Amino acid sequence: MALRKVRLDGDPILRKRSREVSEIDDRILELLDDMVETMRHENGIGLAAPQVGILKRVITIDVGEEPIKAINPVIEEEEGSVEGLEGCLSVPDLAGTVDRPETITVTFMNQKGETVQMKPMGYLARVFCHEIDHLDGVLYTDKAKEVHANVNEDEDEEI
Ligand code: ZN
Repeated sequence: MALRKVRLDGDPILRKRSREVSEIDDRILELLDDMVETMRHENGIGLAAPQVGILKRVITIDVGEEPIKAINPVIEEEEGSVEGLEGCLSVPDLAGTVDRPETITVTFMNQKGETVQMKPMGYLARVFCHEIDHLDGVLYTDKAKEVHANVNEDEDEEI
């Protein structure tokens, strides 16, 4: 495993649409492992492949349990709407308030190529939405009602 460099806002790669993964090969597995390592190193709870310069539809999430490694994630359904605070490893030192669905149904492939469906709620649903937005070149700052300096850096985890 190796750490990868996190791309920052202003890097054009963050604005591009990522391509679907057609085959789970060793490069994808290595990417997933590297993303988990990089996410932990940066104290992030989510990371999308374009944030490390790879335009593939791959995200990793770690909210304190086993890390989720999701390939080609698709949000099938959304329910409700809730306001919450977000930050992003690619937009350091800022936080903003974003409306996200309360509950989603998301389908993806795991690293074994198995189809997984989850119905995350609350914060986990928020993290999925944030990371999937990255795959379409969207940053949370595009959607935020307001963005401010993140003064409590220890409290706000960056996704
Ligand atoms: Zn982000």
